[in-house]
Amino acid sequence: MHPFAFVRPADAAAAVAAAAQANTAQQGADVRFVAGGTTLLDLLKLHVETPAWVIDIHRLPLNQIDATPDGGLKIGATARNADLAHHPTVQREYAVLSQALLAGASAQLRNMATTAGNLLQRTRCVYFRDTAMPCNKREPGTGCPAITGTNRTLAVLGTSAHCIATHPSDMCVAMAALEATVHVQGPKEARAVPIGDLHLLPGSTPHRETVLEPGDLITHVTLPPPIAGSKQVYLKLRDRASYEFALASAAIVITVSGGRVIRARVALGGVGTKPWRSPEAESALVGKPADAANFRKAAEAALRDAKPQSENGFKIELARRCLTHALHMAATG
Ligand SMILES: Cc1cc2nc3c(=O)[nH]c(=O)nc-3n(C[C@H](O)[C@H](O)[C@H](O)COP(=O)(O)OP(=O)(O)OC[C@H]3O[C@@H](n4cnc5c(N)ncnc54)[C@H](O)[C@@H]3O)c2cc1C
Ligand code: SF4
Repeated sequence: MHPFAFVRPADAAAAVAAAAQANTAQQGADVRFVAGGTTLLDLLKLHVETPAWVIDIHRLPLNQIDATPDGGLKIGATARNADLAHHPTVQREYAVLSQALLAGASAQLRNMATTAGNLLQRTRCVYFRDTAMPCNKREPGTGCPAITGTNRTLAVLGTSAHCIATHPSDMCVAMAALEATVHVQGPKEARAVPIGDLHLLPGSTPHRETVLEPGDLITHVTLPPPIAGSKQVYLKLRDRASYEFALASAAIVITVSGGRVIRARVALGGVGTKPWRSPEAESALVGKPADAANFRKAAEAALRDAKPQSENGFKIELARRCLTHALHMAATG
């Protein structure tokens, strides 16, 4: 493993101050936080990440899951994925989040993985994880071999000529449909980032994955109060039933009254370069009868701009069917 100094800060302020010395918060940063370590330690072993300093934040008191005064939920950055998935309020009021977390990884990994670590997990693109290969995300300007190579699991939405890597998280897809807000403590101030603004499209700078800057520590995530009467579903399609990333997934938060959709929040996973909220699907649904024909139209709208690569064209129809079926499950559940 690449040698690095290991720091255990006394509190969040010390963690932020130490991380603020980094040249960047992005790929290649010389200072990294580590929480559960289930993403970072693998990448250290593979020499994909080579920081000089690793700041251990997993013992900071940031693991609480509490109600907020407005009736929403505050989820600490170091709350474990397992604790969040099994929290009674999450199971009752934010079922889509519980389902998404339980569809991810394995029980052992969920016991270690944290909320912030999940938000910032890195792509599973095989070239990114192989330092013998070029990769614009790992080493800017070297090229993207995935475009002409192995790309079956990669993205069809939000891609660029420089990177087509899929964002691998399930949790983030549910949080996108729940309109979560990510709270960040920086060296100078704290700020709140809507989840849709946290991750960046690859464009010509795929090494810049988020809007985080040096020293930025995610402290917690908030969810707005639950929508009374909403139905929620997370549906994940993958090559095997567990311990596998999504080929396509859909998170649905929908309210149906009198047979019509009156509110819809839709997000897709496994197909986008970031967790993919679909305003196109949402506006195709609202005001329409909650029936199979309209669910299919919404799915077609969501995938209208999809761009297949040489091996992953099948994902477009798979995602349409995933979304159509998830809408049916939510509306009839
Ligand atoms: C075999 C395997 C299968 C998996 N399958 C799935 C799956 O099906 N679905 C899925 O969604 N995920 C899956 N995962 C990914 C897993 O969910 C993530 O590895 C995990 O959520 C990361 O959390 P962590 O706390 O371990 O992160 P760490 O490894 O500790 O950190 C990850 C990144 O986040 C940064 N970071 C951590 N906390 C903070 C903070 N508070 N502020 C700022 N930066 C921070 C770190 O610097 C690092 O860059 C899988 C992982 C493995 C190894
Ligand atoms: S898709 Fe992105 S992560 Fe994969 S090789 Fe291309 S640039 Fe690297």
